[in-house]
Amino acid sequence: MSSSIIDTLDLEDMESQDIQIARDDMSSVQKKVFPAGTLLFKRGDIRHCAFLLDLGAVEIFGNDEGGTDKFLCAIGEGEIFGEMALIDNSPRTASAVTTKECEIFIIPRESFHKKIIGLDPMISLLISLLIERYRITRIHMPESVKQDNIGDFIRKLGRHEHLPDEVIRLRNTEQQRHTALQEMKLEQDLRQGLADKEFIPYLQPILDLKTSRVAGFEALIRWQSADKGMVFPDDFIPVAERTGLVQQLDMLMLEKVCAMMPDVLKKLPALSKDDSRQDFFISVNMSGINFETLDVVNQVRGLLMKYEIDPRHIKLEITESALIGDADQAEKVLQGLKILGVSVALDDFGTGYSSLGYLHKFTIDDLKIDRSFVMQLHDGSRTIDIVRAIIGLAKNFKLNVVAEGIEQEKDIAALLSLDCDYGQGYLYSKPMPVDAALEYLEKSFQV
Ligand code: C2E
Ligand code: CA
Ligand code: CA
Repeated sequence: MSSSIIDTLDLEDMESQDIQIARDDMSSVQKKVFPAGTLLFKRGDIRHCAFLLDLGAVEIFGNDEGGTDKFLCAIGEGEIFGEMALIDNSPRTASAVTTKECEIFIIPRESFHKKIIGLDPMISLLISLLIERYRITRIHMPESVKQDNIGDFIRKLGRHEHLPDEVIRLRNTEQQRHTALQEMKLEQDLRQGLADKEFIPYLQPILDLKTSRVAGFEALIRWQSADKGMVFPDDFIPVAERTGLVQQLDMLMLEKVCAMMPDVLKKLPALSKDDSRQDFFISVNMSGINFETLDVVNQVRGLLMKYEIDPRHIKLEITESALIGDADQAEKVLQGLKILGVSVALDDFGTGYSSLGYLHKFTIDDLKIDRSFVMQLHDGSRTIDIVRAIIGLAKNFKLNVVAEGIEQEKDIAALLSLDCDYGQGYLYSKPMPVDAALEYLEKSFQV
């Protein structure tokens, strides 16, 4: 610990920055520059934020019995100080002064709590419990705890008024415990379900809107759980994504699709060389995690070879979130898939980041317009113009357009007038077991 240029600090005439920082936007971490000699916070200030010293030097002064502020320690670059602010609302017990010009990250309590709540539920629970325990052992100091009867002490703990919602939720560890336990249990069940081969694909037809014939299927995962019955993907894919199990599920679906492909192709009428049905496909959903490394390309190649599948019959559906993290890496994966010969559809288009501007940057083949647009086609809103613009742009980039969520006859006419190629939705069929899908396919070519 280095010693200070001054031993004691006269706080009388100095105004601390803590109050001013509190009035600023407290929902996100921000960086600020402070000149030398700034009193960052003063003993007695209500704590609002912690600090991370990026550049410069800061000294901390604490109060002695006589009421003067004495040098306690020097803070070096890269160190966090004033971090008790992240725990509770009680007044600061020390003062902090910059001794050089400083660049400092300000970490407001709200943003800290938001980050914790956004974590994996298990980690969030652990951190919340640690903070809560710390609060219980620290607040009011042991002497006062000794004087209090336990009821008073607990009431005092509950006296953190005017807390933002995040903080209240964070303190509600009961709810968090429940969520974390459920998630852990679901993770165990998912592993068991994988071992017991309880996951199967259902198939939903995707039709050529002009001919009303099946152009392909989308494989949608279903969990036929021995104890839960049929479980839909929205109830387990998010946990599978957080735990990394989704990669196994996605590859399992792809493997099942490859394995069934010869039987499915047999249901198509004999194909001439230039028949567009050569392009018959089954698409498989791929979570974004698969796009973080090139492994997925090798895995897909392995399955295509194992089942001797013509890659043109395989399509992978990804969402925009797979592209936004590390865009260069995602594009490498897309290029690798293109070389293999499988095609890629951008799923749920319009719901995420939806920048039409970046479409040309990625090697994709199809665009799937999210069903929320199709459902608003007839409500007199601007949706129809938006869909027209999306289709126009997609065509410019030579992408096929698939409309999701077709539920009414009139959707088809509207989409055809907008030059949309393909459609999928309950009007044609809900996702169905493979046998039923094969029958549907055969019938589609009989009329
Ligand atoms: P998605 O990829 O957007 O799949 C379309 C979802 O919309 C399916 O729900 C389908 O049953 C439903 N759908 C289709 N047509 C209509 C319609 O006309 N109206 C309405 N209201 N809904 C329609 P599902 O099967 O429950 O799947 C939900 C989501 O779970 C999928 O959304 C996809 O994001 C994810 N998912 C499904 N299977 C897999 C998988 O194997 N791997 C991964 N990573 N995700 C999957
Ligand atoms: Ca999909
Ligand atoms: Ca979709």
